[in-house]
Amino acid sequence: MTALAKLTRLLRSSDRQPARPPLGVSPTVEWQVAGRCNYDCTYCIQSRATRVGAPEQASVDAIIGEFARLPGKWEIKMSGGEPFAYRGFVRHLITELVAQTPHDISVLTNFSAPLDILERFCRLTGDRLRITSASLHLEFSELETFLAKARAYRELRTEHNPQSTFVVNSVLVPGKVAQQADVKAQVEADGFCYFPQLMKIKGGVFPYAKHEVRHIEALTGGSHDPRAVNRAPSYQGLMCHAGAWYFVVDQTGRAYSCRTAKRFADKPAEDAITPDDPAYMGSLVDGTFALHSEGGVCPYPICPCTVPANRGIVVRKPDAARGR
Ligand code: SF4
Ligand code: SF4
Repeated sequence: MTALAKLTRLLRSSDRQPARPPLGVSPTVEWQVAGRCNYDCTYCIQSRATRVGAPEQASVDAIIGEFARLPGKWEIKMSGGEPFAYRGFVRHLITELVAQTPHDISVLTNFSAPLDILERFCRLTGDRLRITSASLHLEFSELETFLAKARAYRELRTEHNPQSTFVVNSVLVPGKVAQQADVKAQVEADGFCYFPQLMKIKGGVFPYAKHEVRHIEALTGGSHDPRAVNRAPSYQGLMCHAGAWYFVVDQTGRAYSCRTAKRFADKPAEDAITPDDPAYMGSLVDGTFALHSEGGVCPYPICPCTVPANRGIVVRKPDAARGR
């Protein structure tokens, strides 16, 4: 560890963090466990160039070791790329995460993993599994096949993880929004929760044509509730506990206070390790990681993921989201 890294860690010492989160805040980590994905959706926000790579087992172990030191119980929400496309995901990562930490486990997946792998995942996570967010990508899977697997997965969760929940994410692909009414009806007819997501592009939300905006409003019932729809709003100027009770970790172990912070601050780690860079939180692999002692006012124009809003990380008033 460099002298600068040591100083950074000292200045950001998690010893200064309160032992308990503020009321209403659910501590959460988003772990982008691997870059690689077995799909190649035309609307993917991640470029092909960045959708690559898988971690070394030693990095996974170091990251889990740091998670074990977090104060109290957190939710570790894993995504990618596609987490199940990383070969060691269930066999090693999930096994160790369950064994070494007390934390809850959630996963965001394209739901392409075979049922026997999902069965093993359910068995290993047991009463620690919280949310499975299964993204429906109609460019790569058929709705009926997806729903048949979801029904089988429901049986597995009933047996191993009855406390867990399941949600079907669906990106509102421009030019195809009208189809989503039928998708929503079929998902809900099977008793699953349908969660529409407006498509993000670099710097914001896709500018939908007027007739598609009408379909979006009909589909969502006009809701702006982040528990019902992801409109990727702006919370700029609001208090946010990101960095203190929420952070994002990439496949190399680098941590950032949130997804937007990562996008703004994505640069080589050594350049980023400065005490006055609030976005970068050090690396969980090289020992420079430390939680911020507190959050701050959101400086960003977009909050692309609903996790911070739905875990109490960003302190919202009911009508506080802008950019609608
Ligand atoms: S499944 Fe997700 S990560 Fe993979 S290409 Fe599609 S949108 Fe991108
Ligand atoms: S509100 Fe969202 S974008 Fe803003 S700091 Fe918090 S997590 Fe990041």
